[in-house]
Amino acid sequence: MAPYDVVIIGGGGSGLTAALYASRAKLSTLLLEKLVPGGQIALTDVVENYPGFPEGITGGEISKRMEDQAKRYGTEVVYAEVRSIAKKDGLFEVVTGQTNFAARSIILACGASFRTLGVPREKELTGRGVSYCATCDGAFFKEKEIIVVGGGDSAMQEGIFLTRFAKKVTVVHRRNKLRASPILQDRARQNLKIDYIWDTVVDRIEGEKKVEGVVLKSMKNDQTQPYRTDGVFVFIGHEPNTGFFKNFVALDDHGYVKTGPSLVTSVPGVFAAGEIRAGAVKQLVSACGEGCEAALAAQAYLENP
Ligand code: NAP
Repeated sequence: MAPYDVVIIGGGGSGLTAALYASRAKLSTLLLEKLVPGGQIALTDVVENYPGFPEGITGGEISKRMEDQAKRYGTEVVYAEVRSIAKKDGLFEVVTGQTNFAARSIILACGASFRTLGVPREKELTGRGVSYCATCDGAFFKEKEIIVVGGGDSAMQEGIFLTRFAKKVTVVHRRNKLRASPILQDRARQNLKIDYIWDTVVDRIEGEKKVEGVVLKSMKNDQTQPYRTDGVFVFIGHEPNTGFFKNFVALDDHGYVKTGPSLVTSVPGVFAAGEIRAGAVKQLVSACGEGCEAALAAQAYLENP
């Protein structure tokens, strides 16, 4: 099989935009995605801050449109999980569970996965009341009382979405000040179904076959108290998906890929874009911008390696 000019790993906003630009530049382009096109955006109910959609657009719809747009110019999309990357005979070898692919350049756009609480019973009760995706699981909580853990944009946006189903949404946040953007904070505060427990973390989750409650712990005095709830939605940020190439490119102390000018990594010919990249601002519009920049940089590299 002839090597691809560009193999893009990850089909979120950055990867799909890189694919669009690379294939429009007539580079042979392969995009590898392990789950669904759109990455984190595909799991978002409505995207309200992507320019050009004043009424907002659903995460599923914009993901599908971006994938169709990249494919229209020749991007091949293969659903496979990448296991490793190595440099071999002047080319990059991308190993997946099924086929191996050769590439003249690589764009790492594999984003990040949700962070877990790491408390007792969380693993066992995931899918039984513990969730990391409001769009996927919200409808199971009609007229129920649930908690949302976290104080960032995701916690507010998803908490508001969950009030469509739940009777009551209680935000449990480890400080007494939210991190979320003011517009989302305001909207959440105006929502009568949402209330807050401040300076508090979840110490453990309780329930045999499904979530029946949590034990909350005060950050001020370490005191614990049981709290009844039907569901625990966790939105406490993300961890970079760098597991399969940890020793291949340089990472920062938090595990994000370090990049230099034109988003090149420590390995010439390998670029990084979007949430995987150290310093990324983690918005869909910036992820798309970085995808564009990485594709243009890959094109320049291929013309003059
Ligand atoms: P985030 O901004 O990193 O916020 C994570 C929240 O979880 C913070 O409030 C943090 O508390 C809390 N937290 C972290 N670890 C915790 C732990 N172990 N236990 C309890 N609480 C913990 O993550 P995010 O909300 O997922 O957002 C990620 C990025 O995507 C951000 O850049 C955000 O702006 C962006 N985003 C944007 C939108 C939008 O524009 N509409 C929507 C979603 C996400 P502290 O505040 O104390 O650190």
